[in-house]
Parts: sequence; structure tokens; C-alpha cells
Amino acid sequence: MKSVKNITIAGAGLVGSLMSIYLAKRGYKVTIFEGRKDIRAAGKAEGRSINLALSNRGWLPLKEVGLESTVEKMVIPMRGRMMHDEEGFLTFQPYGREGQAINSISRGGLNEVLMNAAEKEGVEIKFECKCVGINFDESILHYENAGTRYSQKSDLIIGADGAFSVIRRLMQRTDRFNYSQHYIEHGYKELSIPPSANGGFEIEKNALHIWPRGNFMLIALPNQDGSFTCTLFFPFEGSPSFESLKNDDQIRNFFQKTFPDAYNLMPSLLKDFHNNPTSSLITIKSYPWVKNRTLLIGDASHAIVPFYGQGMNSGFEDCRVLNDLLNDYEDDWSKVLPKFQEQRKPDADAISDLALKNFIEMRDLVGDEDFLLRKKIEAKIYEQFPQKWVPLYSMVTFKEDIRYSEAMKTGEKQKAIMDKVMAQTDIHKNWEKLDLKKLVDQLQS
Ligand SMILES: Cc1cc2nc3c(=O)[nH]c(=O)nc-3n(C[C@H](O)[C@H](O)[C@H](O)COP(=O)(O)OP(=O)(O)OC[C@H]3O[C@@H](n4cnc5c(N)ncnc54)[C@H](O)[C@@H]3O)c2cc1C
Repeated sequence: MKSVKNITIAGAGLVGSLMSIYLAKRGYKVTIFEGRKDIRAAGKAEGRSINLALSNRGWLPLKEVGLESTVEKMVIPMRGRMMHDEEGFLTFQPYGREGQAINSISRGGLNEVLMNAAEKEGVEIKFECKCVGINFDESILHYENAGTRYSQKSDLIIGADGAFSVIRRLMQRTDRFNYSQHYIEHGYKELSIPPSANGGFEIEKNALHIWPRGNFMLIALPNQDGSFTCTLFFPFEGSPSFESLKNDDQIRNFFQKTFPDAYNLMPSLLKDFHNNPTSSLITIKSYPWVKNRTLLIGDASHAIVPFYGQGMNSGFEDCRVLNDLLNDYEDDWSKVLPKFQEQRKPDADAISDLALKNFIEMRDLVGDEDFLLRKKIEAKIYEQFPQKWVPLYSMVTFKEDIRYSEAMKTGEKQKAIMDKVMAQTDIHKNWEKLDLKKLVDQLQS
């Protein structure tokens, strides 16, 4: 492949912006075409506050590009899950060992930091430029601005234009491109809990709150202004569902009965419920991610459901892995591109499947006694044998040196061992007498 100097990226979202920083730091001339307006010009007061959980896989690349101290000031650590039952009673489950936490961060705030850092490195971001076409043979990207069509030729194009990527759609028309998409039966709606009268947090600040209700759930993540962004994950149809909550009384009664403690903290429930969109949840898989000199990364190549809090984290990991390969192969893109997709695809597939499974765990099992005991036993094994038995959630969330695909495989082995443990009679009485070393040995064998 002829030497690469100029790189075009489609999409200045979280992943495209981070990728551009890595590449600019390596000396490439990077231009990003972003379909939206510059969110920084809109001002902070505009729009809803939407947050994300940032964990170790996302932190590492942010550290590598020098943004750790900036981002640290923006996060609220969440040390565990706070479960709310129907009576409003609370149970706290730590996520990992002491000191381990996932971090709530504003999506818009993080995107702004990344775009600022990209521009500081010399990246040019062209806003309101929507990518509409591509010539894969010539590496030419076509985009539209204010109704006029333009073209940009470069040495490499990176599609980071999200789950509904135009670049991927154009790749889909080429030979031997595999693609699948799947909508789950649930959608989501964002709601909010405002700060208390004195500007504090109405519920525990350092936790991810969950109201698990079997087939659906409500969650809440803290914001720095004392508010919480809540998300209702709920079936589109059936009873109850978005379809079945038709008027104010039905919405009010449902929340009052189902999430009583949250309901009391949601003065704008009806307004939020009516005004905020009901959005769908999709899994997208595709392959290959490389066509000539065009590469897909982030949600454009692998969009997942949000139940492991790993979509952005895995997209950031894409950027780090690509940068590592550029180091290993001294920027020889003819070696880096095939290696990247070969290495990342099994990991993207693994986190995609794990995310779907985690929805059941979050909405249904987190309140289940057997499930809680299983977690307690695993936490005890982890405490005694931290190098030999890391629970699946911890591998995915806190162990950025373990690949998603490896974590999934080990998690399956752990599950088989724990299934047998949980099938023992009187396990709830006798669990403290278990020979944990024997369980660890089974995992290693
Ligand atoms: C409800 C919900 C909760 C989530 N929670 C978490 C979480 O807690 N933790 C986590 O890690 N992940 C989470 N995610 C996933 C995360 O939001 C995505 O994985 C992440 O945003 C992907 O980043 P991206 O840059 O690939 O795509 P996007 O963020 O979608 O960015 C794509 C960019 O491309 C631009 N664009 C699109 N089309 C074009 C075009 N034709 N031309 C030019 N520009 C274009 C868009 O305007 C956008 O700026 C969540 C997702 C959802 C839906």
C-alpha cells in the first residue's frame, strides 16, 4: 500500500474524534467530516443531559492520548449497583474489589473534550458535512454541505459514522460483505431525577441505580449537577409496554406502583415521558471491516445493546488496538488493516453477545437470591485467588488486558462450575464451607 499521509474520517462522534487524536499524534494529516452542527456552539444549557458509563477499556486510550486528568474531573465514580425493590428497599452490590468503579460521564461533555483535543493536535473538523458516497477504488469520499456535493480524495478513509453508518451501507453493496442487524423487543426512554432543593443528590451519588422488574427495568446514572439521567428499558408492545401507557393517568399509576421511590423524585415525569423519544435498541454485526483503503470502526462496524455499558468502551478499544498495530508494523497499513479486523472481530462479537445476556441479568436476576449468592461466592473466590478467578463482569469492565473473547470463554467455564455449585442441596446454608481452591483448580484444568 502506497504510503499513507492524508486520512479522512467520517463522523466526529466519540470514536472518530478519539481515533483522529491518535492519528494526528503519529503525524498524519486528518480531516473529519461530521454531519451535525458543532455541538460546542450550541452551548451547555441546550438539550437533555445524557450520560454513559466509562470503564477501564475506555480509560486506557484516554490516558494514552493524554486526556486522563481532564476526563477525571468530569466523572462520577459508581462503585456498585444499587437495587431498588417494589417497596423502595435498597440493596447495594459492589461492582468489583475495593477501589474499582465505573464512571458516569456526560456524553456531550466527553465528545467536546475529544473534539477540542483533536483540533489542538491539528485535526480539521468540518461540520454540517454529511458523507453521502464513496469511491472505494480511488479512496474518494463524497459529502454534502448546504445542498452542494463535494469530494475529498485521501490515502485512507475511516468510517466512524455510528450504528447507521453510511460508509458501511455503501460497503454492503460490495461483493462478499456480511451484515446482520437485530432489534430487540424493548426500546428505551430517557427520564430524569432533578437535584434536591439544596443542589445535592436525592439518591446515593456513587452508584448505578437499578429498579429491576423482571421483563423491564429503570436505571439511573448520576450527573455532576446533582441530577440523575434515568433510562426506562421497556417492551414496545404487550402489557405493560410503551404502547399500553397511553395517557397521563396510566403513566402516573404505573410509575407510582412499579417504581414508587423513583416516582416521588420525578416531578417532570409526564413531560419527559411525552416529550422524549422512544428509541429502539439494535445489534449490528458486519464483516469485513476493510474495503481497499476504507476501514470501519466503532458502532459503524459493531453496534451493541447498552446493557454491559461497553459500546463506547469497545469503540475506544478499537482505536487503541489500531494504534498498537501501527506501532508493531511501523505504520505499514497493508499489514495493519487486515490484522486489525482479524484481531478485533472475535472481540466485537463476544461483547455483542455478552451485552445481550446482561440485559437478563440486570432486569431479572439482580434481585434473585440464587443469583446474589452466586455473585457472593464468586466475589469470595476472587478475593482469595485474585490472579486465578476473576468474575466475568470484572474481566469485561476492569481488566483491559483481557480480550473480550477470552473473558467470554473463561466466563463460560466459570458458569459451568458455578452451576454445579448452585445445584448442591442446602447451598444457601453451606456455601461458606465450600472448598474454593478446588473450584479454582477446576477452572485452571
Ligand atoms: C441508551 C444507550 C446507552 C449507552 N450507554 C453506554 C455506556 O454506558 N457505556 C458505553 O461504553 N457505551 C454506551 N452506549 C453506546 C455508545 O453510545 C456508542 O457505542 C458510542 O456512541 C459509539 O460511538 P461512535 O463514535 O462509533 O458512534 P456515534 O457516537 O454514533 O457517533 C457517530 C458520529 O457520526 C456522525 N455521522 C453519522 N452519519 C454521518 C454521515 N453520513 N456523515 C458525517 N457524519 C455522520 C454522527 O453525527 C456522530 O457524530 C450506549 C448507547 C445507548 C443507545
